[in-house]
Amino acid sequence: MLERLHRWRAERFAARHPLPEADWAEARARLPLLAALGDDEAERLGWRAWRFLHSKRISLHPELAESTPFDLPARLALAAQGCLLTLGWSDAEHLEAFAGVHEIQVLPDAFRRQVEEMDEFGVMHAYEDERAGETSHQGPVVLSFTDLMESGGLEGFNVVIHELAHKLDLGNSLDVDGFPPLPGDIDPKEWHRVFTAVWDDLQAHLARGEATPIDDYAATHPGECFAVCCEHFFTAPDVLHAAYPELYALLARYFRQAPLARLPSEPAIPR
Ligand SMILES: [Zn+2]
Repeated sequence: MLERLHRWRAERFAARHPLPEADWAEARARLPLLAALGDDEAERLGWRAWRFLHSKRISLHPELAESTPFDLPARLALAAQGCLLTLGWSDAEHLEAFAGVHEIQVLPDAFRRQVEEMDEFGVMHAYEDERAGETSHQGPVVLSFTDLMESGGLEGFNVVIHELAHKLDLGNSLDVDGFPPLPGDIDPKEWHRVFTAVWDDLQAHLARGEATPIDDYAATHPGECFAVCCEHFFTAPDVLHAAYPELYALLARYFRQAPLARLPSEPAIPR
């Protein structure tokens, strides 16, 4: 019943707002991440991104708005990178997952925030933290323009996927904890076991002074571990699969997608 209602809404939207095909093709041509999609997935993602732009506000900092052409292909590309996360889910699941996303703000550069954190002894520490993006439970998703421009490739970095992964994580709690709402066929114990193994491995690499197989920002917090693993799952699935095959398989079930199969078949450029 719910699915029928969503289908009807999608059809009504399509009748009123035809997909700007040329702009969507341009968006795909600009980003290797989107160009890698097959035709069926690309068509589905185009519609999702187009509807996303109609239901969420995308705000550009005034300083950027003057100097930066942020045309429709750029807006579609931004929305599509976010909607890629939920592409394997039904319309109902996709809308529910991003119900807490109201606005995406793009700021000129990585921004600094005063952070105050209580340590385990109850002592407050204040420090400045430089971030590429920021997300809170009902607050806007904030992205730095520089990092947005660096996203969209197949190199394991994507600030849109990272911040929206935090929004998925926040679907069942007020803080990011690396534990998003899980579908019925994934046992929370399995989720915990697989992520803990990755977490422990990252910490062991750092303790030995070795480079970590995925971005070491994953080792700073369980919530960051989930977000960074999502970035790799979609934009460097070969790296994630080689380092942590069990985690790749778990995320493939969670997202109901197989990004490894989308990678161009030419020999990979060593990273
Ligand atoms: Zn983060």
